[in-house]
Amino acid sequence: MTRPSENLAAETLAARLARPDILALPPCDVAGPPLPGTIRLDANENPYAALVAGQPTINRYPDPQPAALRQRLADLYGVAPACLWVARGSDDAIDLLVRAFCRAGQDYIAIVEPTFSAYGQFARVQGAGVIAARLTDDFAFDAESVLATVTPSAPKLLFLCTPNNPTGNAIDPVDIRWIAAALPNTLIVVDEAYGEFCDAPSLATEATGNLVVLRTLSKAYGLAGARIGCVIAAPEIIDLLAKVSPPYPLPTPSIAAALDALGPERMPLHAARIERLLAERATLAGRLANAAEIDRVREGGNFLFLEVADPGDLARRLVAAAVRVRFRPSAAPGGVRVTVGTESENAALLAAFGIAASAPASRRADIVRDTKETRIALSLDLDQAEPRRIDSGIPFYDHMLDQVAAHGGFSLVLACSGDLGIDPHHSVEDIALALGAALKQALGDKRGIGRFGFALPMDETSAEVLVDLSGRPFAKFDGSFSTAAVGGLPTEMVPHIFRSLADSMGAAIHVKVAGDNDHHKVEACFKAFGRALRSGLSLEGGRDALPSTKGVL
Ligand code: PMP
Repeated sequence: MTRPSENLAAETLAARLARPDILALPPCDVAGPPLPGTIRLDANENPYAALVAGQPTINRYPDPQPAALRQRLADLYGVAPACLWVARGSDDAIDLLVRAFCRAGQDYIAIVEPTFSAYGQFARVQGAGVIAARLTDDFAFDAESVLATVTPSAPKLLFLCTPNNPTGNAIDPVDIRWIAAALPNTLIVVDEAYGEFCDAPSLATEATGNLVVLRTLSKAYGLAGARIGCVIAAPEIIDLLAKVSPPYPLPTPSIAAALDALGPERMPLHAARIERLLAERATLAGRLANAAEIDRVREGGNFLFLEVADPGDLARRLVAAAVRVRFRPSAAPGGVRVTVGTESENAALLAAFGIAASAPASRRADIVRDTKETRIALSLDLDQAEPRRIDSGIPFYDHMLDQVAAHGGFSLVLACSGDLGIDPHHSVEDIALALGAALKQALGDKRGIGRFGFALPMDETSAEVLVDLSGRPFAKFDGSFSTAAVGGLPTEMVPHIFRSLADSMGAAIHVKVAGDNDHHKVEACFKAFGRALRSGLSLEGGRDALPSTKGVL
């Protein structure tokens, strides 16, 4: 049972600010998690495995605060697990804070408008008052004026959203620290829901005393549907939240999804996606700035705030064009908030303003491939040369895959956690399969591609690779190696890699290699393959031309 309970020393800030009736509550009565060697007859669960594919154990109640997830989030944000409470999204975190600290009809929260609506909403549901300071007319955060507005009401909680939803601006941490010092009897709740999309440092590691930080997996980690967020605060505050939390707040599938999405091999892909969204945001902002009806485009988080003369009318027109955007006349009357979407969604938004997208959509694929032997996350873009970040677990294989991407002219972000303690075989093969599948997916209907390709490099070694992106898998390898491995990559795996690629890409790949030095020979194969791919993938026939007399590939 990992739920913290009883370290609410009478003199802590949490004890002074909390609702007295919550302080007096006994800890929540929950059944402990299953312990090895014990049978569990304490929770009135159904003993039979759930009739749900892939989720047999959801007949059991989940651990209220699963240690593995708590630890993973603590590591992610650089704090101790005792300082972190996992909640059902940061919405739930806001609600828990309001319920733990605000007495109905007596206490206040403070907000700085325009901002995220849930702070005020949860306070009103609880019967607490809401004091609203405002950003300046230019949406800047003026710490002195905020302090002057909120101080007379002695709010229990002051919510500061950074970067702010919907205006996008980040609050200077210096201002936040200053306000926290000036309001020692108010919890300063810093909502960093969009923190991954801005350069300002997180305050998570400073969340002690009256500073509280909220984080979520909904935005940067793409898990809005799993509902996982957290509160980071002094342990006494965390203990108090445990008292107001429902007994088993986190659904088992969500716990598993969060641990899955935060696996070490997933992190490079998250980073690449954040970069991609930021690049898309900048492109979109630049193009929308040309729209005559938009006075100003503000960027922040994974969204834009478009200031226009008549935002209500704009929101209605966009909805009529099947593009939903957010307009809140009471809180942010001057504009609409638009989320940065996929390239094609962004193109649809631009089209609604009569602006053509500048370039055709990239040929991309993101692949997650997990087995009991390997976990692989991979992202490639055939129309971008960067980034190339590869971590297969086998440095020499990284080097070879980098050759393929560099000479193939495409970006590749790839990470694998594999059973290298057993043998490199599984990682090497599964990565080749995942790469082939990603190339196939990114090629889509193959319209416009060159289809065939070949190359002939290098030194005393000659390698020739012929590729036909025909849809028909076939692999031929003509060559041999005299050493068992090069840089940890078994040479017997080299023909196998090309066979795996051929199978998963649906391509004919013929490799012929001769020479004296096995390192050269292996490297030449991968370089030549990259070069062959480059001409095979290149868009030479125009986007609509299919390089086949069959009319299908
Ligand atoms: N904080 C802010 C500023 C938000 O914009 C949102 C959602 N739009 C949330 C918190 C809630 O996020 P979640 O409950 O999905 O973690």
